[in-house]
Amino acid sequence: MKNQILPHDHGYNEKKVAEHMPTEEEIAGVSEAMKQLGDPSRLRIFWLLCHCEECVLNIAALVNMSSPAVSHHLKLLKSSGLIVSRREGKEMYYRTADTELAQVLHHTIETLGKITCPERTEKI
Ligand SMILES: [Zn+2]
Repeated sequence: MKNQILPHDHGYNEKKVAEHMPTEEEIAGVSEAMKQLGDPSRLRIFWLLCHCEECVLNIAALVNMSSPAVSHHLKLLKSSGLIVSRREGKEMYYRTADTELAQVLHHTIETLGKITCPERTEKI
């Protein structure tokens, strides 16, 4: 949109907005993250993993879903970069990625859903 002349001049800040218009590449990660979190089950799993690192079986118990279903959601969340995993012995643990996007989404979910943040708990 840089240096583009708009068909109409309404006297607003269209020029400034146009200068900062993100490219499709720049917005792709945000779009993908929001697409993934558009699913209520993934949204709950993501929110859960904002507060603790968990294995598939515990996540399944906490969200009351089967572990294959949870595994499917974890795979999608991981491929969109919202969560990361760590292997310890035979067990795989999942948690939210340490990214600004994940942090903002965490707080957005709680603000919009009027959800109290339990704060992140480290292994006790
Ligand atoms: Zn929280």
